[in-house]
Amino acid sequence: MRISVIGSGYVGLITGMGFADFGNEVTFLDINEKIVESINSATPPIYERGLKELMQKNVGRYKATSEYKSVIDTDITFICVGTPSKKDGSIDLGYVVDAAARVGEALKERDDFHVVVVKSTVLPGTTEEVVKPIIEKESGKEAFKDFGLAMNPEFLREGNAVEDFFKPDRIVMGVKDEKTKHILETLYSPISCPKLVTDIKTAEMIKYASNAFLATKISFANEIGNVCKKLGIDAYEVFRGVGLDHRINPAFFRAGIGFGGSCFPKDVKALIAKAEELGEDPTLLKAVMGVNEKQHMKLIELLKKHIPDLRGKTIGVLGLAFKPDTDDIRESKAIPIVKMLLEESANVIAYDPEAMENFRRLFPDVKYASSGEDVVKNSDAVLIVTEWVEFEELDYKGKIVIDGRRIDKARREALVYEGVCW
Ligand code: NAD
Repeated sequence: MRISVIGSGYVGLITGMGFADFGNEVTFLDINEKIVESINSATPPIYERGLKELMQKNVGRYKATSEYKSVIDTDITFICVGTPSKKDGSIDLGYVVDAAARVGEALKERDDFHVVVVKSTVLPGTTEEVVKPIIEKESGKEAFKDFGLAMNPEFLREGNAVEDFFKPDRIVMGVKDEKTKHILETLYSPISCPKLVTDIKTAEMIKYASNAFLATKISFANEIGNVCKKLGIDAYEVFRGVGLDHRINPAFFRAGIGFGGSCFPKDVKALIAKAEELGEDPTLLKAVMGVNEKQHMKLIELLKKHIPDLRGKTIGVLGLAFKPDTDDIRESKAIPIVKMLLEESANVIAYDPEAMENFRRLFPDVKYASSGEDVVKNSDAVLIVTEWVEFEELDYKGKIVIDGRRIDKARREALVYEGVCW
């Protein structure tokens, strides 16, 4: 099939490259010229394990452009642009609206049936009530008759995104017309996993309910973990015991300093705003966010237990990405932590294997080390903020370590060691 992908960030690029690997012809479209150039030279514009190899393997099957008219030469278009939060937490559909308008404009010139798939995370109702009328207006065509429209939420995890494309837990296809359903099923036929076909609104909601549940699991682990810490109990042992219950499952119980990233915080906030708009009071979801917004402060509290006055002290920060194996710092807990350290007049020395370039744009004045060793060697105390595997190799002997992510070697070796929830 000939596929166009609108928005070539984490989701668009991985999805498109995955489809290219199945032998499809893929056109990536992005308004960011740097991303377009980078894709055309088979160089990943983001860090994601296995992506470089996938791009190099499939050279000749894809190209990138910023020209919307190339949509006409494809059979199916995936909208994968960002859906960030507005200041009040509600969803900002600006990029989706823009992409839909420009796809609609391009479709005016296309005579054959064309399928548009919304892959961006959008609230229930958005595909049919926002995207559909825009495409219809701009193209002069009728949805589900002249062109197909579907919603296909994405569940990939940054850091594991390539593997998640080829081996997902499930694929959800929100469709209305049979032709579109058939085209999507054909496209995904090389992937073997449970495939759920729903109506469009349900597919949109499955994504939000999944993320809200995962975020809840983390805040729950952290709340229990905070109590464990006060009681001298190791929350990891507790959740090992809890997770063995087959109704519960052990994944996502890593108590620590809370969740960040480009999805959980914004998606839970958007769901809260939507629920309130509908006259509901989403008490549980608000508590999930409340726990998360405070959790990273535990790290600073524990640090100050050992160094009450941070003025002039050099504090090492290990990890800046919101999770390991990515260069993504969106909503990373490292951001408020570094901010708090600077407000306390500490000197910060930081290291991350992949995310320093992105972090430097936000904090140009922080000292960036060339390795984790440098951080440990040259600081009065070390904060572990992201659980990169390489931090398991460092020498923590003689150091004060405050650990937000459970690095076992630090736990065994450090002179003074505090875990946030253990
Ligand atoms: P991203 O910010 O990495 O990428 C979005 C891309 O869209 C950017 O490169 C931007 O330049 C481009 N863009 C914006 N407007 C455009 C337009 N009108 N035309 C063409 N390109 C345009 O975002 P992402 O992390 O890939 O997320 C995309 C969507 O997928 C979001 O709704 C997100 O919630 C959802 N999602 C993300 C993840 C994840 O782990 N990142 C996982 C599942 C779902």
